[in-house]
Amino acid sequence: MQKIKISTWIFCVLISSGMALFADKVFAQKTNNTQHATAEHLTTLHCEISIVGGGPAGLFVAYKLGPVYKDKVCLFEKEKRLGGRIYDINKNEQTDGEQLIAVGGRRVMEGQDVLFNLARDLGIELETPELEAELIFARGLYSTNPDDFVALYPGLEFDPKTSDVPTQLLKRLLDSPQRKKIDEFVDFKSYVISVVGLSGYEYLRDMSRFRGDFEYALSAKAYLEFLQEDIDVCCIASYPVGGMSAFIRGMARKAQESGVRIYLEEPVSSINKEAQRYLLTTKGHTVHTGRVVITVPPKAFDHIKGDIARAVQAQAQYKSLVGVNVVTVAQWYDKPWWQGIRRNSDEKKVWRAWTTESCINSIEIPQEPYGASQNVIRAVYNDRLDCVEKWRHLAAQGNGALEQEVKRGLEHLFMQNGVTKPVEISHANKTVYWEWPDGWYYIRAGFGFSTSDIFNWAVEPLVNEQVSLAGESYNPQRSTWSDGAYKSAIHLLNTKYGFNL
Ligand SMILES: Cc1cc2nc3c(=O)[nH]c(=O)nc-3n(C[C@H](O)[C@H](O)[C@H](O)COP(=O)(O)OP(=O)(O)OC[C@H]3O[C@@H](n4cnc5c(N)ncnc54)[C@H](O)[C@@H]3O)c2cc1C
Repeated sequence: MQKIKISTWIFCVLISSGMALFADKVFAQKTNNTQHATAEHLTTLHCEISIVGGGPAGLFVAYKLGPVYKDKVCLFEKEKRLGGRIYDINKNEQTDGEQLIAVGGRRVMEGQDVLFNLARDLGIELETPELEAELIFARGLYSTNPDDFVALYPGLEFDPKTSDVPTQLLKRLLDSPQRKKIDEFVDFKSYVISVVGLSGYEYLRDMSRFRGDFEYALSAKAYLEFLQEDIDVCCIASYPVGGMSAFIRGMARKAQESGVRIYLEEPVSSINKEAQRYLLTTKGHTVHTGRVVITVPPKAFDHIKGDIARAVQAQAQYKSLVGVNVVTVAQWYDKPWWQGIRRNSDEKKVWRAWTTESCINSIEIPQEPYGASQNVIRAVYNDRLDCVEKWRHLAAQGNGALEQEVKRGLEHLFMQNGVTKPVEISHANKTVYWEWPDGWYYIRAGFGFSTSDIFNWAVEPLVNEQVSLAGESYNPQRSTWSDGAYKSAIHLLNTKYGFNL
């Protein structure tokens, strides 16, 4: 059995905020105009437009600006690889190759138009498998229907004539007359308790896979705005052949073909004003530039110094953003033991399960042919504060402790639940633990901003400066996922660079 390198992991977390542990090969290394700074002393670069960060937002900006500005555009990425929170690896922990599975973002949801258009432009094939049953465990009960749990939450008020109680309660949150006084609620949690009671709060939390939403002190106003959009996010999920990183590879290739200069392992450490222009410092370069596009999320941007960076960081809009800590664990097996998990009543396959019993929180079994062929599952997907602590602690003890706890959680879910056919769970032959310091962003309690306030502010956070922010964290509403990052980039390109996208 292969082990994850826990000691290396801890080291990497300390020096790089947990982002790029296993990235030996990188997408952009294969093309000619990827630059690597090796000089002992900083060398000088001149770029008309500098993009800081090579995740989806940074690459999208590079991909669109490239044909117009060609090699006047430079992109600086901190890690050895591009993609940020879009991160696929294969069993050998490489970021390229035939068999890639997600450690971060995984799917494209119906209605995420930007991603569908991008898939078409980049020639990415999407697979849309039938997603059958989902298993839930809470308060001692297993079921594939959230409505079956209502009796376990005494005092829960719901309309028994309408099915889908979670949606019923969420709609009540959106439509409540109390929403008119939303600014009086200290956070989202207190609003939920006020509208649907403590039982309603606990029921909604337990029926959701995203329990962090109910634990972090989030702005009620902004969360309801997100919910308004999320409730309509529907239903069909598509999975790119080659993983979500197919988008990253495609954009990087096109940007480089048009002349954009991409610099890997070049963290930007400061952004300063220089006469009418800007001066960036990276690991190997000083960069004189006319315009700056920052696509680095706040938890990483906090480490960038300089008068321009500090002026952005000092703003209330920036301070209002809160990143959610997320753990994922991928496990590879010799045999797909999960194929036997079928609902007793109709033989439907379970593709996802979530539980309050263990810090597994949520697991996902790939159904799309590309992912399903790899004998790998996402065994843990967790944003609960206490659980992130627990996994970090277990991972630090070594792979054995981590695998044992994952196995215990899987056995509790699937061995004898009375709902699905029992299965024998084998030992994983490979486990990759990953911690995202900021899996996604929300607006924290105590700030009155709406999501659209942040979205618009980000285009020009400093009046009369050619400095912009773009990315998921500056369009903070989890429902749109990377689509939100692209939309933020599009808003910037349309507003500041004369595009009409
Ligand atoms: C567990 C998980 C599951 C997800 N699932 C999905 C999904 O199924 N579908 C979906 O569409 N989205 C999903 N997402 C969301 C998606 O990954 C993000 O929305 C997207 O990656 C955000 O893109 P971004 O460009 O805004 O930021 P990032 O992806 O965070 O990119 C920022 C980049 O900046 C770089 N950087 C940081 N500091 C510096 C510096 N000083 N100098 C230079 N570069 C720097 C980083 O290394 C990184 O590459 C998921 C995310 C997570 C964590």
